[in-house]
Amino acid sequence: MTGFLYGFFIVFFTLLGFIIGSFLNVIIYRIPAGRSVSKGHSMCMTCGHTLGAADLVPVFSWLFLKGKCRYCGAPIASRYAKIESFTGLTFCIASVVAVEYCAPIILWPDNISLIFYTIYFLMFIAGCAVAISSMMILYDTGKCFTGFAITAMTLKILSSILPYILGFYGYNKEALLGSFEQIVLTCGKVAFSVGLTAILCLIFKRKYGKAEVLIDIVMLSIPYYGLFFSAGDEYLRTVITALVYGSLMSITRSDKLRKYSAITVFVIYIVYMAVRFCLIKIFQ
Ligand SMILES: [Zn+2]
Repeated sequence: MTGFLYGFFIVFFTLLGFIIGSFLNVIIYRIPAGRSVSKGHSMCMTCGHTLGAADLVPVFSWLFLKGKCRYCGAPIASRYAKIESFTGLTFCIASVVAVEYCAPIILWPDNISLIFYTIYFLMFIAGCAVAISSMMILYDTGKCFTGFAITAMTLKILSSILPYILGFYGYNKEALLGSFEQIVLTCGKVAFSVGLTAILCLIFKRKYGKAEVLIDIVMLSIPYYGLFFSAGDEYLRTVITALVYGSLMSITRSDKLRKYSAITVFVIYIVYMAVRFCLIKIFQ
């Protein structure tokens, strides 16, 4: 791929992240309040003035207006811009790490690859959206939306077994598998980490606090395949990830259940890998 296309792809993906982050702000605010996500305009929380297109440009509107409402001058919480930046950053990192695998969406190769990559691309976006919005709703309300957590886990498992299912139906498995494994390991993590944290919070009936947000941001932002655990085989990496994740969670917990949270993370990871291993064997 040429340098120009490479740059174009990363910019495209990052901007998409900003836009999705902006939509996530709407979800995070409206779903717990029981309001429709699609109906109704965004408005200033202080003066109630309906916001125009120029007020809703992700990150830039907030910077340009210096964090104040254009109509009444009331301060606007920085978290909206933070969530937009964070989503943009997550997409940016994913595009840099997985550029060779995600770029076919733009480059438009043969039809099968296009379908395949489109499915993955949509799953990646859904994974990010579910992970970030459930993370913030958990933090805001202390409530875990079980549906979000289950969706996150399902996306992760689906994204892992999809290439095997496609291979089973006669698609060129060799051509798809290698690249797919890479994206799954890089991006599938996104949905998994929050799903796992949410389920742990449910099991231990514990509020989702700043520590959990921090852990999930680390786990979301660092695609472990590329940076942390690039050595060793996939199963070893999974065990290391489970240990790191479990330890982080137990260090930041003050309750007496903390040692069990680490063990639970570890067990869930091992069970997940065992299920995946069996599915691979079945579909091969
Ligand atoms: Zn206002």
